[in-house]
Amino acid sequence: ERLEVAKIIEQVGEEFELATRRKSIKFSYGCEDHLPTIIGDASKLHRALSNLMSNAVKFTPNGGQIWLEARLMEGTQVDAGVPYVVFSVVDSGEGIPAEDLPYVFDPYYQAASRNKDLGTGLGLAIVKRIAAAHGGNVAVRSQVGVGTAFSITLPLVPPSATQAALPPSNSTATPESVTDLS
Ligand code: ATP
Ligand code: MG
Repeated sequence: ERLEVAKIIEQVGEEFELATRRKSIKFSYGCEDHLPTIIGDASKLHRALSNLMSNAVKFTPNGGQIWLEARLMEGTQVDAGVPYVVFSVVDSGEGIPAEDLPYVFDPYYQAASRNKDLGTGLGLAIVKRIAAAHGGNVAVRSQVGVGTAFSITLPLVPPSATQAALPPSNSTATPESVTDLS
């Protein structure tokens, strides 16, 4: 499935306009023009961004700020030359203590926090699984009292989609042996 990145940002942004307004949070969302499409599952990506947004709203006090955006990055860390799209959700909320950061993507993990609510602690584990399913990853940077930035980095084309177009690597069928069968 080819995803329109701008469309997903738009949908998730609109979805969170009311929740942010209720807390008088200044909310900005958007992306650069002419982003390429990516191959993936739109409803799953939507889910991942919603999970990040609902955390941002939950852990940002009244009057704070949240940004939701997507931009194109020429990948250099993973695979030189492979283009990636980076989705980010940045908030000016309470932040996550450094000692909790390594665990926030673990299922059921919730940092000790004054804003604890009835969440299950599964939101970020789901985000991580969705990013991995698209051949990408999710990262977090945070500072207590300043805010938190989550970013989901996805290749435009997941490695699995490229592999699907090629013969499986464990296949013993070479082009020659296929010809022999005819
Ligand atoms: P659920 O998402 O299942 O409703 P949850 O929000 O508690 O529950 P996660 O989304 O997995 O669970 O987040 C795990 C923990 O990471 C949170 O409980 C919170 O301690 C911390 N956390 C996540 N996002 C933020 C954020 N934007 N600011 C501060 N802390 C955060
Ligand atoms: Mg959550």
